[in-house]
Amino acid sequence: MNEQLICTGCGVKIQTENPEELGFAPASSLEKEVAVCQRCFRLKNYNEIQDVSLTDDDFLKILNELGNKDALIVKIVDIFDFNGSWLPGIQRFAGKNPVLLIGNKADLVPKSVKQRKLIDWMKKESRELGLNPIDVFLVSAAKGHHIKEASAAIDEYRNGKDVYIVGCTNVGKSTFINRIIKEVTGEGDIITTSHFPGTTLDMIEIPLEDGKAIVDTPGIINHHQMAHYVDKRDLKYITPKKEIKPKVYQLNEQQTLFFGGLARFDYLSGGRRSFPCYIPNEINIHRTKLENADELYKNHAGEMLTPPRREQMDTFPELVRHEFTIKEAKTDVVFSGLGWVTVNDVGAIIAAFVPKGVHVMLRRSLI
Ligand code: GDP
Repeated sequence: MNEQLICTGCGVKIQTENPEELGFAPASSLEKEVAVCQRCFRLKNYNEIQDVSLTDDDFLKILNELGNKDALIVKIVDIFDFNGSWLPGIQRFAGKNPVLLIGNKADLVPKSVKQRKLIDWMKKESRELGLNPIDVFLVSAAKGHHIKEASAAIDEYRNGKDVYIVGCTNVGKSTFINRIIKEVTGEGDIITTSHFPGTTLDMIEIPLEDGKAIVDTPGIINHHQMAHYVDKRDLKYITPKKEIKPKVYQLNEQQTLFFGGLARFDYLSGGRRSFPCYIPNEINIHRTKLENADELYKNHAGEMLTPPRREQMDTFPELVRHEFTIKEAKTDVVFSGLGWVTVNDVGAIIAAFVPKGVHVMLRRSLI
């Protein structure tokens, strides 16, 4: 019988002919009990990624299929990169199916922030972004916080149907599913998890007791995420593992903050104020006078202002300036995939700089 082997790491179909293509595994390795493609093998054992290309069309096809199923859709977002990890259009793709929204990486949010407040914030934001979730949960897949509740809710809302888990790359979808599996079966890692965005490649089914399944869909790449502009070795700096401690800066008008060399915040006018910066602890924040900022970046990006790395500077996109006048008290200026700065006062004028292609946006303060 010619049975198609599926990689237990990423769910891709295994092939033994072409080492350059997706799903390759040496024939000799397939004699083992569990089949793993070479890519997942290297990732797991050497923490090393091999590039693959899945086109956006493939992702769209997968999303389009969702509407034809009779299922519960579970959408996962990264609470620390809420807008950057938001997949637009899920309500439309879901068709009649209910969507349960799960915010992951709650462990990164300062402990002083109430869970309830964050969930309310997520509800409000998602309605504005066109999603009407049947329920919203906040979890930490890495730490296992609130996984039991989320798992019980999934079981209740699925109502005997299949579950499709969707999310863009790096939101922690694999980690979440691995947790759920542990919850249900007590087994260890089944799906590959890593620092590297885009490692879950094909649909993977985890059977449930009643003959239904939890289906992990591939992570969808949001091209405007900061992660695409950072060297793979530096991804760990923008994929924080610990609670983010805000660093509060007292700024005078005409002062600038650099977040490594990845982003820049100019305080233009509004009097002396304090600005809490929710940026991963590992990223250096450098303060300077606005009048010196351009020169400083020109001379020190890639060394004092890093990441990016020096050898990346030739190809690293230029920082693009976005100017805003703050209209509501407590507004976050969000650097997609990096973090945010809270501006407390109406009328302040600021400029936010991000690499060309990365999004910057304002939102009502999360914290
Ligand atoms: P996927 O691409 O969505 O499947 O994401 P992964 O499960 O591979 O996780 C992406 C990265 O986020 C990895 O570095 C994980 O360690 C990290 N991660 C996943 N869940 C959490 C979490 O709850 N908290 C934190 N701090 N990091 C997480």
